[in-house]
Amino acid sequence: MNQKKNSGWESVGNILRRVAQELLKLFYPPRCPICERVLGPGEGRVCPECARRLPYIREPLCKRCGKPLRIREQEYCLDCQRQTHEFVCGRAVFLYEKALRRSVQRMKFQNHREYLDFYAEELTMRGAGYLRSWKPETILPVPVNRRKRRERGFDQSVLLARKVSRLTGIPVEERALVRSRYTLPQKELDARERRQNLKGAFTLRDASGLREPILLVDDIYTTGATMDAVCRELKRNGFTRIYFLVLCAGKGK
Ligand SMILES: [Zn+2]
Ligand SMILES: [Zn+2]
Repeated sequence: MNQKKNSGWESVGNILRRVAQELLKLFYPPRCPICERVLGPGEGRVCPECARRLPYIREPLCKRCGKPLRIREQEYCLDCQRQTHEFVCGRAVFLYEKALRRSVQRMKFQNHREYLDFYAEELTMRGAGYLRSWKPETILPVPVNRRKRRERGFDQSVLLARKVSRLTGIPVEERALVRSRYTLPQKELDARERRQNLKGAFTLRDASGLREPILLVDDIYTTGATMDAVCRELKRNGFTRIYFLVLCAGKGK
């Protein structure tokens, strides 16, 4: 009896939610996260024109960091040849350039967090093979610091990680890792300065929910300095099997 009553209420709730969603769509019709064109019914998360030319990273790619390579024989990008990274390996879905770069910047700086649904789906679909072979037990977002989160109103890697967790069923630990120190914007620094800048930037506050292998999730991978800083903190706490999946990466050399 009770059960019947509950499911009745639940379906009323679902109907109301769907009505609210439809009304929202009427006032704020969903737009293509790449070109911002209003999406027609049944067009999916991205418009057909943009879907045809999404800048996916394709083989050959660096076996360590996943950046695309020019020559198949190369195995590792120059950056990964020069220095040892702290993670086992990682992969990115898109090249961080042109329309995709603009999309990510709109998401971050103009509060287009609705793009994260598309990003998370791409990450999960394109990363499915890697997830099967890495078998991560915990998803860990690479957090932004409090000041940035306050300015932006959200932490994109936490939201992304949460959505990837929902799609894959792999538990996410949102609060285990904190970015404890305000760091300078990485893009203005060279490789050595980046490393110095990130020293002690991350603190593992609560390791109780972490199970290896760990999957780090973030929006962009550039030199790997941030990933390495997170990995160093995890290693200090005894975790060694660390992988990453990110939405975009720059070109490898
Ligand atoms: Zn489009
Ligand atoms: Zn590499």
